[in-house]
Amino acid sequence: MHSITTTKALETSLNDLRKKNQTIGFVPTMGALHKGHLSLVQQALAQNNVVVVSIFVNPTQFNDKTDLEHYPRNLETDKESLATLSKNLIVFAPTAQDIYGGALFTNTYDLSPLDSVMEGAFRKNHFNGVATIVELLLNAVKPHKAYFGEKDYQQLCIIKRLVALRNYPYHIIGCPIAREPHGLAMSSRNSRLPKDTRKAANFIYHTLKTAKTKFGIEHAKNIKEWVQLQFKNHTLFRLEYFEIANANTLQPTHVIENNTNYRAFIAVYANEVRLIDNIALN
Ligand code: AMP
Repeated sequence: MHSITTTKALETSLNDLRKKNQTIGFVPTMGALHKGHLSLVQQALAQNNVVVVSIFVNPTQFNDKTDLEHYPRNLETDKESLATLSKNLIVFAPTAQDIYGGALFTNTYDLSPLDSVMEGAFRKNHFNGVATIVELLLNAVKPHKAYFGEKDYQQLCIIKRLVALRNYPYHIIGCPIAREPHGLAMSSRNSRLPKDTRKAANFIYHTLKTAKTKFGIEHAKNIKEWVQLQFKNHTLFRLEYFEIANANTLQPTHVIENNTNYRAFIAVYANEVRLIDNIALN
């Protein structure tokens, strides 16, 4: 495994590999790596000769300053976990100054209507921040394939839109959600949960699974109300949103149409820790 901190050094290394016809996979992350991240890296390793894993906590995508301050950072431990996977890995951990080429900035993209709902509605300018850093990273790595988790399904749709808008040749691949044994979707933020809350948080996935069993039998509106009821007066978790949405347009729906894929999306607070999850309904 190779560790690189500047865009220039990355470019030199990758150009050498490209000359040898090596295919390059890319997994962007914000670090504090868990098995969910590693599952993306493993898929990328299975499909490419070399994989670049970027580790960069991007300040511009945080709408909440406290969330940014408390975001876990474990670069050395992250490198150790990656080193156990393969020799054909490059860890790219740039400074903000390097990857932004100077001061931080946020581009504005036409992400409508994907960014008008759910994470986009509750986290102001989050997706312009995400798209900006992902565009910078994609152009630094120029991968054949880049891997994103369905854990952040809306983000995955936004990245596909970004690549289409810019006509980039990068192939964007969505990967399944990795879960803790009791069902909670793995997340770097889970380490901020007290042990009991972390265990109890299987309630979120359990609620999504029950919503799925109701889908197609009950009206979407009734399912949404049922979910809201589950969280009403809950002592540990506060529901921010639950939506049943078209899996392509992400627009929340009350009417279920044939030949259309739907997903359920949820965002929940456990004290100040924000957790998101989603599930395919059909
Ligand atoms: P993050 O470090 O949270 O920005 O995540 C980096 C990448 O890992 C994103 O594409 C996430 O969607 C993905 N990811 C995070 N958690 C999971 C998970 N539990 N299962 C699958 N992918 C995940």
